[in-house]
Amino acid sequence: MKIDKSIELYTRGKKNLVGAVNSPVRAFKSVGGVPIFIDRAKGSKIFDVDGNEYVDMVLSYGPMILGHRNSTVEKTVKKYMKNGYTFGASTKGEIIMAELVCDAFPGMDKVRFVNSGTEAVLSAIRLARAFTGKNKIIKFAGCYHGHSDALLVAAGSGLATLSIPGSKGVPDEAVKNTLIAEFNNIKSVERHLRNDDVAAIIIEPIAGNMGVIQPSAKFIKELKELTKASGILLIADEVMTGFRSQFGGAQELLGFEADITCLGKVVGGGFPVGAYGARNEIMEMVAPLGDMYQAGTLSGNPIAMSCGIATLKELKNQDPYKDFEKTAAFLEREMKMAAKANGIDLQVNRFGSMINPFFTKTRVVDFKTAQTSDTDKFKTFFWKMMENGVFLPPSQFESWFLSTAMTKRDIYKVRSAIQIAMKAVA
Ligand code: PLP
Repeated sequence: MKIDKSIELYTRGKKNLVGAVNSPVRAFKSVGGVPIFIDRAKGSKIFDVDGNEYVDMVLSYGPMILGHRNSTVEKTVKKYMKNGYTFGASTKGEIIMAELVCDAFPGMDKVRFVNSGTEAVLSAIRLARAFTGKNKIIKFAGCYHGHSDALLVAAGSGLATLSIPGSKGVPDEAVKNTLIAEFNNIKSVERHLRNDDVAAIIIEPIAGNMGVIQPSAKFIKELKELTKASGILLIADEVMTGFRSQFGGAQELLGFEADITCLGKVVGGGFPVGAYGARNEIMEMVAPLGDMYQAGTLSGNPIAMSCGIATLKELKNQDPYKDFEKTAAFLEREMKMAAKANGIDLQVNRFGSMINPFFTKTRVVDFKTAQTSDTDKFKTFFWKMMENGVFLPPSQFESWFLSTAMTKRDIYKVRSAIQIAMKAVA
């Protein structure tokens, strides 16, 4: 695989960019080697600066669910670009977007748009504290909720990939109100509820940041009951799963309603959009209606809104969720068959259009079991997939994603790459 131009850009970029990147996972640190630099993308494909072509299963870590440069979306964005980029005053697009989002999530009467998933979550936490008058937050080990101080503990993929337990620069005081529980273990939640200062429990309903881990139906039901009985808010961080697992997110699929929902990624269709929303009595705490302050110069940006609206409408029209399920099931089968043929222990976790293989005998149900995966095997697998034209997240703990732009041919190409890569792993 020729990557001369990527090497050149990597060498040049290191001088003025930290690790030549603007987000750590892009440095390919856990898989070794030089990160590829992207030139362009179209549909299901992404092309690096050396001209290598890949079927894209990173999809910018989720947002590009329709593939790259969907023609309807692109037409809309171009049209709105002509009107100006940002105004610092409201636009009709924000209202249409709010209607679309609130319609998809029955637990949301009102929504506030921000610029990233991190912002959505940190605002949701402030809102839960404002509403309940309490301070502590329970989060689950291995769930990632963005890089705000209070949530950078036991935070899944990004940190696990770099083998760092938390982040330096986060003061003890910032995390003293963050309590850690185990995913799929209600007892570990109940233990914390002896403390009467808990404002909220935050969960990735499908834990994409430790490699696609599903909650048991019982666990979700118990979480809902527990929070209701104790006046605690349940926050669903659907930054990854919103509009991806189903149009109404993991909540629609798992059949529950959170008190506050956080969105990001797909909701902006590739532009920087995050959102948090809840029923009226909670959202009315937010300024200008209430006293919880949260603001943003570029929040509800008109171009980003136009991209989000076009993406969500197109998704609704295409309704790709059944097809995603079929494709993911096919890839699971193919991976398992190839692993078996080569005597490799493999678990495949998947949910809708999110899928992730683990090189382990152990069934992967939480962060501890996810970490039993042989990351050296993943490394070999990853580079073979790249060499054979499939762009995967360069981390054992990040989900692969499907897009509606993937053709049968692409899927067979991924299958062939899997067969070659599994041989190399053996
Ligand atoms: N929450 C979840 C579940 C995420 O997966 C992410 C990002 O990967 C975030 C929050 C943070 O979103 P952003 O990177 O847009 O700040």
